[in-house]
Amino acid sequence: MIEAFTEAFGHAPGGVWRAPGRVNLIGEHTDYNDGFVLPFALSRGVSVAAARRDDGMVEVRSRQAGTAVTAPVDGGTVVSENWPPDRAWAAYPVGVARVLREHGTGGASLLIDSDLPQGAGLSSSAALECATALALCDLYGVEIDRPALARLAQRAENEQVGMPCGLMDQSASLLCTPGHALMLDCRSGLSSQVPFDPAAAGMTLLVIDTRASHALTGGDYGRRRAECEEAASLLGVKALRDVRDLAAALETLGDPVLRRRVQHVVTDDHRVEATVGLLRAGALPELGAMLNASHLSLRDQFEVSWPEADATVDAALRAGARGGRMIGGGFGGSVIVLTPADRAQRVRDAIASAYAQRGWTAPEFLEATPSEGARRLS
Ligand code: ADP
Ligand code: MG
Repeated sequence: MIEAFTEAFGHAPGGVWRAPGRVNLIGEHTDYNDGFVLPFALSRGVSVAAARRDDGMVEVRSRQAGTAVTAPVDGGTVVSENWPPDRAWAAYPVGVARVLREHGTGGASLLIDSDLPQGAGLSSSAALECATALALCDLYGVEIDRPALARLAQRAENEQVGMPCGLMDQSASLLCTPGHALMLDCRSGLSSQVPFDPAAAGMTLLVIDTRASHALTGGDYGRRRAECEEAASLLGVKALRDVRDLAAALETLGDPVLRRRVQHVVTDDHRVEATVGLLRAGALPELGAMLNASHLSLRDQFEVSWPEADATVDAALRAGARGGRMIGGGFGGSVIVLTPADRAQRVRDAIASAYAQRGWTAPEFLEATPSEGARRLS
């Protein structure tokens, strides 16, 4: 990174920072409903080599994007400036620089490199934001605690990129620790570390990129969010997290679509808490049942699954996996599967052949190890 930066900008960087992608074990579409999620950090992530600059500009280059972008750090919102599609990627780092400017950071030159697939539901966007945010804070000696920094990075994605994401991805990237998942209360922002070490329990957690990619700021995500807000307002609660009596809530709602959405969100919140209980009790293999229940709920109640995800879970279970579910916003991206380690290869083969039979692009497999959160590398 240091040589590449020096070659690109003609001088050495002030440092190199890295932020990981994440996988959310359970609790999907619960984050923007003020509920609970349980992500862990991947070993893969986004690295940023960066140096201060004093001309008030942010210049960003990425080894994964063709177009270099230079933009003033004190502009308005990227989303209101209508950047052309080839510059869209730069909204994430430039957006972070614009949000953090209010906290005392300034211009910078940034070179980005990543080993995280984009748009696969592994949160490359938050990794990019969080690596950028750490770099800017360190370069300008600005101290912001990590939960607050996660909120600022989230704000950048909401206001600057125009993606109404919740707090999970940025919190996971900044707060996770090795061998743990992060139980995050998305209302308070409070989190706790929950032991999660599949290998130590003789298990493997596979992440399968289904190669069906979701849209950058997909309208379906916004629609689901709006449906949840509508249901909460009809139920007279601040957010769906506050639903205490699910049966009564379902009876109150006339619209069957809203009923299904509420059913998913409320039960997935409970599944997060049940999963934390299992992990704290040392019953990691029992998570399989939770994953399966979550997948069915996402497929049938929240209606955000996609054919490759359903086929992946199905093939994995038939080959002896303990459980699996789609992850991320939906309509594309990745699936996780929990399998005894000694059956992992059989499960992979079964999934690959299910894809081949249907003539789909071969899926990609990643063995996920709960890893450390964002940090300075040099
Ligand atoms: P996810 O976060 O699940 O990977 P998103 O659609 O939220 O999917 O974010 C992906 C977007 O983030 C990409 O389309 C691109 O704009 C940006 N991005 C992520 N990683 C990089 C990178 N290494 N270089 C340039 N842009 C990136
Ligand atoms: Mg993202």
